[in-house]
Amino acid sequence: MNPFLTLSGISHAYGKTKVLHNCSFSAKPGELVALLGESGSGKTTLLRLIAGFERPTKGSIQLNGRTLVAPGIFTVPEKRQVGMVFQDYALFPHLTVEKNIGIGQTSSNRKNADDWLDLVGLNGLGGRLPHELSGGQQQRIAIARSLAASPEILLLDEPFSNIDESLKFGFRMELRSLLRIVGMNAIFVTHDTKDALAVADTIVVLKDGCIRQTGSPEDIYLRPADSYVATLMGPCSTVRNEGRKNGMVRAEHLHILHPSIQKETTLNGTVEHVLYQGGHFLVGVRTANGLLLAQSNDCLPIDAKVTVGYNNEHLMWLNEA
Ligand code: ADP
Repeated sequence: MNPFLTLSGISHAYGKTKVLHNCSFSAKPGELVALLGESGSGKTTLLRLIAGFERPTKGSIQLNGRTLVAPGIFTVPEKRQVGMVFQDYALFPHLTVEKNIGIGQTSSNRKNADDWLDLVGLNGLGGRLPHELSGGQQQRIAIARSLAASPEILLLDEPFSNIDESLKFGFRMELRSLLRIVGMNAIFVTHDTKDALAVADTIVVLKDGCIRQTGSPEDIYLRPADSYVATLMGPCSTVRNEGRKNGMVRAEHLHILHPSIQKETTLNGTVEHVLYQGGHFLVGVRTANGLLLAQSNDCLPIDAKVTVGYNNEHLMWLNEA
């Protein structure tokens, strides 16, 4: 399958400050891509480059067979057929929901505002003003407005950042199924690994303006390319060095052993930290191999002597020295 969106060798600078370095990735048709990274890693800049709000210092961008950016080529945002959903939703406060959606509508799109409201599960709310809706409802209106403009791809800037933690779970499911139903390609920016793992088909991990790894959520979580990606996705520890390769193991695969549990590799240590995670504890165990993080169902006393163990199949080998 030909890629739907391709970024090749994209670099960008604001003035003299270089913020993106030779970034390349591509997305297949219908794919939902997460740009994941810490604050300042360059996610929003990458999104703005795809939208056309910035012009890269180097590299090219192709969307659905069209070259948007290349040496001597720059397509302006309004000609890109790219929909942008901003973090603050950017709805017109004095216009009703119906009118907000109507602003995005293209003549080629035969759906009316009611159809879009149906699609995003908000029928009957067309006459309301944005401030009469919850944050989550406003976001859905912003998405409906973008979709009404018949974009080829939807770009979402931190779509979960204004959603209450308790509602996030439902929101992740809703956003994923909504984009599936309309069959829309989408790229969203997030700093939350859980959002990326739960919602994306492909995750692009950014660090200091460089792409560290691109892969499926399972790849990124279970087969991280380096120790940065490994620890970004959840607690884990380096447990073995063999040759030039490092091995790490996730906390949920490093168990505090009862004598009855057999593991291939075991280490003795002393409990140094116990952090409640809601449902389980994260235990820091000091061993001859350094501090190892293990997941435990029981709260252990500090200074307890324990044995930790893991099965070698759970070792993650990294592509770094
Ligand atoms: P993220 O979205 O991952 O938080 P950004 O793409 O917003 O990262 O920012 C990447 C880097 O570029 C940061 O160091 C940020 O300070 C800088 N930056 C972002 N926008 C501008 C701008 N308009 N002018 C100058 N520097 C900027």
